[in-house]
Amino acid sequence: MKRAAVIVAAGKGRRMQSDLPKQYLLLKGIPVLARSCRIFSDYGVDLLVVVIPPEDETYVREEILRPYGIDGAVLVPGGKERQDSVYQGLLAAEGCDLVMIHDGARPLADREILRRTEEAALDCGAAVAAVPVKDTIKIADPEGFAAATPDRSLLWAIQTPQTFLYPEIREAHERWQREKESSSLKITDDAMMVEELLKKPVKLVMGSYRNQKITTPEDLLMMEAWI
Ligand code: C5P
Repeated sequence: MKRAAVIVAAGKGRRMQSDLPKQYLLLKGIPVLARSCRIFSDYGVDLLVVVIPPEDETYVREEILRPYGIDGAVLVPGGKERQDSVYQGLLAAEGCDLVMIHDGARPLADREILRRTEEAALDCGAAVAAVPVKDTIKIADPEGFAAATPDRSLLWAIQTPQTFLYPEIREAHERWQREKESSSLKITDDAMMVEELLKKPVKLVMGSYRNQKITTPEDLLMMEAWI
């Protein structure tokens, strides 16, 4: 069985107030993207695809990956939206059986999370890392008043990796590429495509509260403390 990882790191990260995109910032001396990629190369995937801004190829290869011994990665130019970047990564992973899709901005995933998503995906076709939410979540009306309070015991915050049998996620993305201009769906992760476009089940497996996505400068400080 051939296993691939697609790490998406082609975003601009405008909420970081930094000139350097968040995936290249140093986290305890090691670039965020190098940490994210190393988790998957250490796990032993057969193919590592890293999706990046097209103009950054030399920088990523020479400054981010090579110094940390990640030599065999295939670098692919990203697209306008995250889903377009994932799609480009999936095209480069053609021929694999299982694919783990991960945000380059989540440097603190670990091999146990990867293993849990892989096992569940082999069992059910699709599995995503997630954690039960700690806060009460409310749905707001357009005026900013609480409109509903869903039962917290059923709510999970979704993370990556999101792991799929390759033909399944490829089919979902092909459908999305055809339908996105005319669709009213707001797709925010890969699992949603499988749920909404293929109407197939997606298993939630335990991620970790440290497997956060770096979005704002505080996230980086918190991770430094954890490390
Ligand atoms: O913007 P957000 O934090 O949701 O992005 C999640 C991940 O998707 C990041 O690692 C980012 O680099 C990546 N991304 C991408 N291509 C885009 C937008 C986001 O690869 N067009």
